[in-house]
This record gives sequence, C-alpha cells and structure tokens, in this order.
Amino acid sequence: MLMETLSVVAQAFLIYLAVDLMAGIFHWAEDTLGKPTSPIWGPAFVAPNVIHHDKPNEMNKIHWFRNNLPVYVAALVILGVAWAMDALVWQVWWFCFVGLFSQQSHRWSHTPRKALPAPVLYLQRMRILQDGKHHWKHHRGDHSTHYCVVTPWVNPVLDRIGFWRFMERIFVPIFGAPRRPDLSDRGWYRDRAAWAA
Ligand SMILES: [Zn+2]
Ligand SMILES: [Zn+2]
Repeated sequence: MLMETLSVVAQAFLIYLAVDLMAGIFHWAEDTLGKPTSPIWGPAFVAPNVIHHDKPNEMNKIHWFRNNLPVYVAALVILGVAWAMDALVWQVWWFCFVGLFSQQSHRWSHTPRKALPAPVLYLQRMRILQDGKHHWKHHRGDHSTHYCVVTPWVNPVLDRIGFWRFMERIFVPIFGAPRRPDLSDRGWYRDRAAWAA
C-alpha cells in the first residue's frame, strides 16, 4: 500500500514537471521557429508572441478565457484521443488538469501581486507555481532562457544542460529561425541563423 501511494505521488510529480516541459517546448517553438507571416502557425502563435515580448503585461487586457483557449482545446484533443484509444487513465486526466493552468500560470506571473488571488500567491510562495520574478528572467534577457512557465523547477535544469541550444541544433536547420524584431540580435540568435543556413 505504501509503495503504491509513493508510486502515485511520484508519477503525479513527474507529470506536473512534464506539463511544464511541454509548455516550455511550445513556448520555445513560438520564440524560435517561423515568423508572423508563416501559414497558420504565424498568425495563431508567432504574432501574439511578438506582441507579448514587446508589451508583456498587455496580456492581462485579454479576457482570460481567450488567453487560455488554445490550452483548453489541446486538453480536449488529448482527452479525446486517450478516450478513443481506451487509455483514459488518471495520469492523462492529471496531465490535462495541470495543463489547463499552464497558460494561466504564465498570466498570473504577469499580474501585479496585489491583484493575485490569495491561493495563487500561496502556491507561488510554496514554489508550486512559478512567480513573476522567475518568469521575468525570460523577458528581461534576450528571450533565450526560462521558457517554461508553470513551475520554478524545470527551467534551471534545462538552462544549465543547454537543452534549448540542443533543440535549436536539431530543429532550426529543418524549420529555420527567421529574424524577428522582438528578439535581440545576440550571439545565440546569430548561431540559430548559422544553423539554418
Ligand atoms: Zn518568449
Ligand atoms: Zn511572459
């Protein structure tokens, strides 16, 4: 019984980190691949992301439902696929449940602290959710680190092991990394262009 409980807790924790990793990979792709005029991907994800980099806190002016809608659609698709495959286990439900809060966590990290609901502040203080100070490292720098927006645990590991530069080595030659006005022209960005050439 004890082992079962430990196994459930460990799985739940790993899935919570996995959601953060997936959200980070998606954000990295928005920041790296394609441009605002790319078909479908551009208007749906790159263009709003350019605006977000230029004016990070404008996000709060969008209605929360519209802001979170892509995540809700993704969760429904995952649940639908799992249901069709007869694989609707608790791990899938948990993954989707945490996932529902991924963009909202990002939004909370751009919300002034005094406007945050008390339970959210508590979760940020307990380091269960990422806070604004952590996420600001992405915006303050050249948008090349701290892509994950849910927890404070995944970014330090990925940034330290060079995960994002590794992803760029693989995917930039395939999809390209066009110059964008919202990304600083630093070394890492030139390197992406070099891999794309
Ligand atoms: Zn970004
Ligand atoms: Zn942000």
